[in-house]
Amino acid sequence: MKQGIVAGNWKMNGSLAFMQEWFQTYEKAPPVDGHRTLIAVPHVYLSQAQALARSLNVHIMAEDVNENKPGAYTGEISADMLKDLGVEWCLVGHSERRQYFGDTDNRVAMKALALVKAGIKPVICVGETQAERDKGETMNVILRQLNAVLSVIQPFEVGAIAYEPVWAIGTGLTASPEDAQAVHAQIRCRIHKTYGPAASQGLTILYGGSVTPETAPALFAQPDIDGALVGGASLHVEKFLAIKRAI
Ligand code: PEP
Repeated sequence: MKQGIVAGNWKMNGSLAFMQEWFQTYEKAPPVDGHRTLIAVPHVYLSQAQALARSLNVHIMAEDVNENKPGAYTGEISADMLKDLGVEWCLVGHSERRQYFGDTDNRVAMKALALVKAGIKPVICVGETQAERDKGETMNVILRQLNAVLSVIQPFEVGAIAYEPVWAIGTGLTASPEDAQAVHAQIRCRIHKTYGPAASQGLTILYGGSVTPETAPALFAQPDIDGALVGGASLHVEKFLAIKRAI
């Protein structure tokens, strides 16, 4: 059976001391099993986080990757470098990358492809802005973002899709469980139509956008919500653990 995922995204936060304390507290808490746990950390901390998480059944994830082969791209990180560190999961297409760093649909697709070629599972973020939502374009936007990626990789190569309405990220606003479920169901339906039932049922679809211990239970109760991508609340280990318990 498909495993759910609870993933944290620390964004550009943390320090060595922060990580040490976070994982020490995590280790002392009673284990919550039955799903996969991922934590995305800044590139500079990947190795240290891997060492701290080694015995905890937590997979350390990268937050982004450069789509090019190794070469003259100062400051960038290739998929092969992530592979070299033993990284197995990587976010791509996070709305902050799309918004601030020029990640177009095509670039996100190329990043996903580079990861797959390196044997790393991409967690692909999709989601509409408030303006797109107001114009009734939510599904058009999501399907456009999704189609770009699916033009270069197959659904079974996708680690997970994270539906993250941009208006809900870091704002304290969350899509209602029913609204989130409706989008997740349509994503699954798109996969079903083109790739069939095994691909659609095998696809893990996470919800992200101000998920908290309070909002998680109703979201996780929805049939097409297979877990969460948690930003702000994942910096608070107790909140992250409470969200894990809710799944
Ligand atoms: C995110 O960054 O992926 C995210 C969902 O952030 P937050 O939970 O803080 O809204």
